[in-house]
Amino acid sequence: MIQAAIISTGDELTTGRTTDTNAGFIADRLLGLGIDVVAVLTVGDRPERLRWAWSEALRLAEVVIATGGLGPTADDLTTETVAALLGRPLVHDAAVAERIRELFRLFNRPMPENNLKQAAFPEGAVIVPNPLGTAPGYRMEVGSAEDRRHLVVLPGVPREMKPMLTETVLPWLAELAGAARVGHRTFQTFGISESGLDEVIAGIPGEGRWSFRANFPEVSVRVVVRGDDVERRLEAFGREVYARLGQYIYGEGDTSMERVVGALLAARGVTVAFAESCTGGLVSHRLTNVPGSSAYYRGGVNAYANAVKEALLGVPSALLEAEGAVSEAVAGAMAEGARRALGSDLAVGVTGIAGPDGGTAEKPVGTVCFGLAAADRPTVTRRYQLWGNREWVKLLASQIALDWVRRHLLALPLLEIGPRGAGPAEAKRESVAPS
Ligand code: ATP
Ligand code: MG
Repeated sequence: MIQAAIISTGDELTTGRTTDTNAGFIADRLLGLGIDVVAVLTVGDRPERLRWAWSEALRLAEVVIATGGLGPTADDLTTETVAALLGRPLVHDAAVAERIRELFRLFNRPMPENNLKQAAFPEGAVIVPNPLGTAPGYRMEVGSAEDRRHLVVLPGVPREMKPMLTETVLPWLAELAGAARVGHRTFQTFGISESGLDEVIAGIPGEGRWSFRANFPEVSVRVVVRGDDVERRLEAFGREVYARLGQYIYGEGDTSMERVVGALLAARGVTVAFAESCTGGLVSHRLTNVPGSSAYYRGGVNAYANAVKEALLGVPSALLEAEGAVSEAVAGAMAEGARRALGSDLAVGVTGIAGPDGGTAEKPVGTVCFGLAAADRPTVTRRYQLWGNREWVKLLASQIALDWVRRHLLALPLLEIGPRGAGPAEAKRESVAPS
């Protein structure tokens, strides 16, 4: 298996002023090609540290991908360092220089001479075009046939680096890695914890490399398969995963809960509305982030105050008084009221205590109630104990509301959430675990 190292350069990274998002992005794409990332090295803009990082990386890995330090200023040292380390002279590229001049002409700005520094490359470098900036990247092969090293140098600006990686570098690496013999699938899940997933996945037979990524409030599971019969084996893994985790998997690959819910609503020709209290419109916001949402989204009522729940959603004041605003009965009444007021096929009501204040012994912070009203069945309600700070409770509640729509449309069972938001497997284990 090919091993890679990633170098992130810049004082802004070592001082914590900028978070290194490049390394994660690159690592994720490499994993998708079945390339193993053995190290991520982060160094500031100092020649001796850059030299250290490059020598270590080249010692550790066959492929080295670096970002940053390609700019025109004196602290941009990557190219000089690489050339010196490899003992290669810098060669001026006339075509790149002309493009840089042209870009400056296009923006009607005089070009500082030091910009031409970006047109110098170590001898033997192959240019990686930069569609969105002045500094192109490059790649090089060094070493003998038995001890080959592949170097890739890209700019630090994420917006420029990403398309260069995706459009030019990855196809070339795929060939290098023998992509035909590597494949992967990523399953997006919600409602089951990482450890719960791990337990389930551990029982799946067959040769594949599984990895989990928690991105609150969801967890994605990826399997990478290499060798013969990649397609067939991925299909077999998919069958197993769906058989064991079906209801928790809302999609595959690059998607989101709101996109999946939007697509389902569109496909079924079902319209939806929301009555939101503690989420303050977040559910509506997320669903309307999906292009084309006008086909199924009727609208939402942000009923934060009790008076609004009564006036706009027709929640009876007696009910609010008897049960409290955060109750299953009120969540149900809110959903029914939204359906009536907004004329949708389906409506979800959300009411809860996001905190940090407002909790009681009976209804602690994180108590959130949901209701779903539909034409063809009695209103369903449920109370969950969510966790985390205010922002997390709101985000999680919005996710549950969307998942309720998904589950309703697919006739799946109601979401079960155990202690600290785990799925059923985790809930069981926690309840028997000694403290
Ligand atoms: P340029 O031609 O734009 O100068 P460069 O290759 O010199 O490109 P840097 O100057 O190192 O790139 O970085 C430019 C900006 O990109 C930095 O200010 C930083 O905000 C961002 N950046 C650099 N490296 C990273 C990284 N690893 N992760 C996220 N952002 C980064
Ligand atoms: Mg820099």
